[in-house]
Amino acid sequence: MTERKQGFDTLQIHAGTAPDPTTGARQVPIYQTTAYAFRDAEHAAKLFNLEEVGYIYSRLTNPTVGALQNRIAALEGGVGAVCCSSGHAAQIMALFPLMQPGTNIVASTRLYGGTLTQFSQTFKRFGWSATFVDFDDLDAVKAAIDDNTRAIFCETIANPGGYITDLDAVSVIAKDAGIPLIVDNTTATPYLCRPFDHGATLVVHSTTKYMTGNGTVTGGCVVDSGNFDWMASDKFPSLSQPEPAYHGLCFGAALGPMAFTFHGIAIGLRDLGMTMNPQGAHYTLMGIETLSLRMQRHVENAAKVAEWLEKDDRVAAVTYAGLASSPYKERMSRICPKGAGGLFTVALKGGYDACVATVDKMELFSHVANLGDTRSLVIHPASTTHRQLSEAEQVKAGASPDVLRLSIGIEDVADIIADLDQAM
Ligand SMILES: *Cc1c(COP(=O)(O)O)cnc(C)c1O
Repeated sequence: MTERKQGFDTLQIHAGTAPDPTTGARQVPIYQTTAYAFRDAEHAAKLFNLEEVGYIYSRLTNPTVGALQNRIAALEGGVGAVCCSSGHAAQIMALFPLMQPGTNIVASTRLYGGTLTQFSQTFKRFGWSATFVDFDDLDAVKAAIDDNTRAIFCETIANPGGYITDLDAVSVIAKDAGIPLIVDNTTATPYLCRPFDHGATLVVHSTTKYMTGNGTVTGGCVVDSGNFDWMASDKFPSLSQPEPAYHGLCFGAALGPMAFTFHGIAIGLRDLGMTMNPQGAHYTLMGIETLSLRMQRHVENAAKVAEWLEKDDRVAAVTYAGLASSPYKERMSRICPKGAGGLFTVALKGGYDACVATVDKMELFSHVANLGDTRSLVIHPASTTHRQLSEAEQVKAGASPDVLRLSIGIEDVADIIADLDQAM
């Protein structure tokens, strides 16, 4: 191949894969195998020593999953990626090499509801904690960082409100503090935003959503930019010091920019076991081939639906950042100029009761706890995904009781609007 850099539409189909060398199979085969025959005892020893890269056991590596990892890394512009069993698994996998008991992260108040719960509740079991702040208040983000902070965490386009985070500004704060910025890029996808271009260190995905795009499998991914110097401080001993969990290997010294990715496979997947299976990887590889086409339509439809809703008498507010009236409009043109995604909330004047009644009357929209499907989806966050939060926390997260979250699909937009109209 030539040295030319390929475009996004080409990479989403070709990156990380080539015809199967033994059979010529053009699609990526589903390597439905647990283990891989070693050539001889020396080969086995080299693989276990990370002296040679290869396949040992499918909890760690699998060729189908590997193809997906390479493809997502290419689309995000990262050096490596590790796929996991879900988006939530990816979050734990991203933090695991960075954290120890007593350390904390600074996270946005505007996150997927399940993430807020994972960070505020389950973290405690590991001796970790999270400080939540409004990421529109950059001084508050700075002030929340202390000596034990090991990462900053936010979403590019925050679920459920579709608010856009100023990644350029937040990454400067992370750099000044000498800690990585982790960005959940699930709702933007690398088609709308590549957080590494805005200074992020790590990207996490729930590939369950737009990346797969058809609502078939759960999955997650951690992508490393390769840009963070783990050896620069003593904050990240798992990467900068001899790692007792891997017979004293110093990942940072031995593997340079690939340290984080190798740690994720050799220790993260080995010991936590949050592995993506090859069938799941197959469905996501199929979905990713059309990512840009779907995202274009999601954005086009979402913009039209948001504009229609904003003019409707029954509607109190629409949060879509692509609207001319949105306070995030400038930020959108900088962070995700191709569009503000397909996800936003609509507040109904009738409040909680009107929301619940609307959901029950919808016909085209499916009432499900998912987003990023080809189908239009709706949920009432306050009674579902954000139910574990207090009302004050719900409001901060953009999930107050009077809002519905819409994930606009790629159907005919007139049919989407007609369904909303009859249901409201
Ligand atoms: C769904 C979602 C997650 C969690 O992903 P799962 O695959 O459901 O575990 C995390 N972040 C965001 C933004 C999500 O939408």
